[in-house]
Amino acid sequence: MDELPILPTTVIGSYPRPKWLRESIRLYHQGKLNEQEMKEAFNDAVITVLRDHQKAGIDVPTDGEMRRDEMVEFFAERLGGFRFYGFVRVWGDHYYRKPSVVGKITYKEPMLLEEALFAKEASYSPYLKVTITGPYTIAEWSYNEYYKSKRDLAFDLAKVLNTEMKKLVEAGIKVVQVDEPAIHTRKDEVEWAIEAVNESIRGIDVKVVMHVCYGEYSYLEPYLDRLKVDQINLALKNYNYEPVKLFEKWDGEIGVGVIDVHNRRVESPEEVANDLRMLLEHFKPERVWVNPDCGLKLLPRSIAYQKMENMVKGTLIVREELKRKGYTTTNLKPLFNR
Ligand SMILES: [Zn+2]
Repeated sequence: MDELPILPTTVIGSYPRPKWLRESIRLYHQGKLNEQEMKEAFNDAVITVLRDHQKAGIDVPTDGEMRRDEMVEFFAERLGGFRFYGFVRVWGDHYYRKPSVVGKITYKEPMLLEEALFAKEASYSPYLKVTITGPYTIAEWSYNEYYKSKRDLAFDLAKVLNTEMKKLVEAGIKVVQVDEPAIHTRKDEVEWAIEAVNESIRGIDVKVVMHVCYGEYSYLEPYLDRLKVDQINLALKNYNYEPVKLFEKWDGEIGVGVIDVHNRRVESPEEVANDLRMLLEHFKPERVWVNPDCGLKLLPRSIAYQKMENMVKGTLIVREELKRKGYTTTNLKPLFNR
């Protein structure tokens, strides 16, 4: 019960939207598709994504975050206390609708429940993972025009995110991932940012993962023992595995990024297998999960698929080797009391 094969494979969350979905969204904004038709298109896209994940052999899939344009905006639009003024430039010609906090953060209604239930029903695996953006990242990527400090804002966000996660658990979701790509960007804020994450997952008694990616991992290291998540998954391939040593003392599980999502070159199964063998010199096999560095969203769909498939093929090679050494399964039970 609740066991996965040794070295479970998963994705971080996002997957490229099929071109027809992007067209549907455009038509919807022009008033040429109604709400119901748009919802059906999103549902169809989720089924397509899950089929890709299944075909690639992913053990713990997601719904590809088909309904989310952006990871902060989605939640800011659905919580009380936010308003939007306009777009800010983030990098190159990418623009971001940065939300402003103009009042106390309040929970209005479930944000992810309906999409989680749909994906759970459509999923081939009972261990579907649902992703939710964490309190620090939402606070960091918003303008604070109301709270005395960013810290106060983050802790109020933690409360409403906790309400949402409890609903997901009640609905039968077995793996929840808190996305905190910003948590390691400001050295003097990491200590309380970790407390805010802990607050957001209080009482969540399923597997809890935290995703962090491009930033300064060394800022996290001094506080790792305070983190109450079961698993941290990380971008590592893009850094040529340099940060591995920072996480050797981490007691929980480690999701190792073995696929570079900033590069269109498709890693071969042998390359993935070699990388995993090296990583197993640093981490116990029963504590290792396998994932890409980050969401696959920005890659062309065919490349995203091939990378995912080769990640699984490479993992299967090493999984066989581990089986001969007596390692067969990884338990899904939470490691820590929250
Ligand atoms: Zn990421």
